[in-house]
Amino acid sequence: MQKFQFRTTNRRGINQKGKLIFHNDKELETPTCWFGLSVIEPKEFQLEVFKKAHIEAFLSNAYDLYYTDKKKERQKLIGELQRLEIFHKMDSGGFQLMKAEISGNAHKFHLNPALVLDKQLEIQCECGVQLDFPFGPNLNKKQKFVRLNKTFENLRELITNIESKGIDFSFLPVIHTTSNNLELLEYSLEQLETILGKKPDILGVGSLVPLVKRMKGTVKNSIENFLYTLISLRRKLPGAFIHAFGIGGTMAYLAILAGIDSYDSNGWIQKSAYGVIQLPGISDRFLRKEDHNRPYLIKNRKQRNCKEPINEIDIFMRCNCEACIPFFKEFWHDKDWKLKQKAFIGREQKPKKLRAIHNVSLYQSEILRIREEIINNNLLEFIKSRLKFSIYYKYINFIEALKEKDLDDLNDFQKLLDIKNHNFKYNWRKLHGS
Ligand SMILES: [Zn+2]
Repeated sequence: MQKFQFRTTNRRGINQKGKLIFHNDKELETPTCWFGLSVIEPKEFQLEVFKKAHIEAFLSNAYDLYYTDKKKERQKLIGELQRLEIFHKMDSGGFQLMKAEISGNAHKFHLNPALVLDKQLEIQCECGVQLDFPFGPNLNKKQKFVRLNKTFENLRELITNIESKGIDFSFLPVIHTTSNNLELLEYSLEQLETILGKKPDILGVGSLVPLVKRMKGTVKNSIENFLYTLISLRRKLPGAFIHAFGIGGTMAYLAILAGIDSYDSNGWIQKSAYGVIQLPGISDRFLRKEDHNRPYLIKNRKQRNCKEPINEIDIFMRCNCEACIPFFKEFWHDKDWKLKQKAFIGREQKPKKLRAIHNVSLYQSEILRIREEIINNNLLEFIKSRLKFSIYYKYINFIEALKEKDLDDLNDFQKLLDIKNHNFKYNWRKLHGS
């Protein structure tokens, strides 16, 4: 049977700290972040990064373990991470299957709820994600409902399989939604309630990513839509555990503020490989001026929304993660910075590993910090400080306005957008005295 529990330990409005209790009685605090395995980097590289960054949770993928992990590298890595008692969520691979469908290769990659469950049981993960059918691009409403219904069909099959095996297991039911009229969301929650025999208290929500990725393009108010959907979901299921698929990076701060409990980080390896360093409250930075001219660490960078220049090198020099600690000095000189810069620059495994340890350590420590800030009822101020220089800062007000609304008010997205525009004009007048 489903043996997966969630308990809220601290509730602050739509935000909460809590703990997940898995079928093996292990407990994981939330909010939490699951770090994705790299399909490129060798096992030893990833093991060292995760170990030194002290991550609490990682995620694998049944599709990958069946079809791309030919030499069983990831399977061995998973074993080592499990020995370190790091929590393990196994995704089904519904997303990979969808991509294969789009490219016409799905027939080569057979996957069904029974196969996914078999792999999850064989590897003994803490949490198994059900096989779902994410929304691909350009689907009409009818096609979305068809895919949703297939996802629910799979959930029924999963439950039957678990019952027939007579085992306890922690599985994550998944819903998908992109709409801003809440119809898909409401339909999904009704279906889940019917299948589970109660209101869902643990669930994952997906297909939000395409919505976010289009932000720069044609779809109007797509980030508002995304935040609106998350807040509405949270308001409909107060106290439930909500995992949001496909959200990482800076967006995760907004999603956490909008009430989610858990997300995945898959971007850590690409960023580190590319040469990027992350600093709290500062977006991607390279270690020196590169040909592409993207921002690199300097001592006096003027940030967005801020007149005072920030010494980014000083922030980096003060990091005391396991990669940075050998270079740490309370008062540093240029030669100390040069030394550290040299150690972290380069395409080789060694500097790449240092960057990865630093970046993953930061993501992990942010999660610990977020829990602390929720307890101290200071999450809003914390997220504001982290997004202060970001293009995402302006969405914080929208979240704040939405979370005051009751569910009836939340039904009218257009009206809520007007509130946002009104607030924006109001703040603008206040700032400019007109
Ligand atoms: Zn560091």
